[in-house]
Amino acid sequence: MDPDGHQKNKPKPLVSKKPPVLPPFKYVVRDTKGESKDGSDPDRKLVEKYLKEIYDTPRGKEIIDHARADKGFVGIVVIIDYKFQNGESDIDYDDPHIRWNPGYYAPIDTPSGPGRASPRRVFAHELGHALAKDYDYPNNQNGNPGPNVTNNEKPIAGAWGEPPRIRY
Ligand SMILES: [Zn+2]
Repeated sequence: MDPDGHQKNKPKPLVSKKPPVLPPFKYVVRDTKGESKDGSDPDRKLVEKYLKEIYDTPRGKEIIDHARADKGFVGIVVIIDYKFQNGESDIDYDDPHIRWNPGYYAPIDTPSGPGRASPRRVFAHELGHALAKDYDYPNNQNGNPGPNVTNNEKPIAGAWGEPPRIRY
């Protein structure tokens, strides 16, 4: 402000940022008995929320934009599986699948000791497999995290302020 009470620099207009264009996805839900059912609105919103949060990180944006630019890309299939005590994905490029449990916290080793990966972090990890086609194990001799953790999970979780995973 100057002494007259006027702002010297014009304030930026209060225009909201354009919402990210999310990749197309479809989803299937399996309940705790393993039965498939129609996804509910909260299930869809959760997938949208996590895709947005991933897209808001530089690495997340990169892998999603890269996948979307590929002519063979038709979308992501998210299998929401409430019984599954893990996460997994299918690396087939034309038809990337991830299977994921919104209630599952994966145990991880962090620099400050044992921790738990949040469900959104597990989602981001699986998306790394599905879209960037990075694996966990090619250089696994010492239990070091593989390319999927290093290239995708770490920068995305790091942008959220979450600690790195130091072993796999
Ligand atoms: Zn993995």
